[in-house]
Amino acid sequence: MREGIHPNYYQTTVTCNCGNTFVTGSTKKEIHVEICSKCHPFYTGQQKTAAARGRIDKFNKKYGIQAK
Ligand SMILES: [Zn+2]
Repeated sequence: MREGIHPNYYQTTVTCNCGNTFVTGSTKKEIHVEICSKCHPFYTGQQKTAAARGRIDKFNKKYGIQAK
């Protein structure tokens, strides 16, 4: 690869709202996602709980409420 024209490629820890983390490769050092393969309704079959949890986390984050 040519020097200076490529973004750095990191081993990135992806953190999901459900608490799951996994490692992947990315040009970003840290990634936060609202949904992952552990909690996505397609994989869990628990459609409503997963969707609701994501929204609640988002609400809590917006208003600075620490979720337990
Ligand atoms: Zn998840």
